[in-house]
Amino acid sequence: MNPVDTDEGTPVSVKIRERIQAARKRFHANDNIAEFIQPGELELLLDEVQEKMKGVLGSLVIDTEHDHNTDKTARRVAKMYLKEVFQGRYVPQPAITEFPNAEHLNELMIVGPITVRSACSHHLVPVIGKLWIGVLPNEHTNVIGLSKYARLAEWIMGRPQIQEEAVVQLADLIQRKTQPDGLAIVMEATHFCVGWRGVRDLDSKMINSVMRGSFLKDANLRREFLSLIAQKG
Ligand SMILES: [Zn+2]
Repeated sequence: MNPVDTDEGTPVSVKIRERIQAARKRFHANDNIAEFIQPGELELLLDEVQEKMKGVLGSLVIDTEHDHNTDKTARRVAKMYLKEVFQGRYVPQPAITEFPNAEHLNELMIVGPITVRSACSHHLVPVIGKLWIGVLPNEHTNVIGLSKYARLAEWIMGRPQIQEEAVVQLADLIQRKTQPDGLAIVMEATHFCVGWRGVRDLDSKMINSVMRGSFLKDANLRREFLSLIAQKG
């Protein structure tokens, strides 16, 4: 029995969307909507996406009934989107414990390279790369564990993204959590929508950065950060 059909015929995606709209929140591809999803609804959403995906395969004129390679593809793709590659839209932010800066750390700290696995909002094909985070703390800065930076990045990147927006979202999140004097993020990624389709250039990479606070004001600090990450490749 398909649970979507038993619920008065209203698709669960419609119910979730109505809640978001009632709250006047945005639900672009790179927004997180976890707060609007009730317990159990993600499973219903999985069924709904599976059905729609089956429709896409049908419209691509693929015989999913007789082709054993694709008979479970609709379910696999639905699961991949909702529970793996776009999970950062549907699950709440990973819990991060912030500690006071007891040691009064005030030296440049660099985390990276952190592996980036994302997808472009335009084509939904992979964007794979790495990023570095530079933090200049002060005595009021909160400290978070090194591994937490990677978890926050994974949550932000696990959505259909636009690289320029992704680094800004990540910077805003880290800024809010830790309140450093300066924050820098550099991301370098290969966009498969350029390598796999389009101009089919497999080697082209996109690099972009966000600089905040002391990284904006202090050219030496900026240079130190950029030269340190260049050495680590
Ligand atoms: Zn693209």
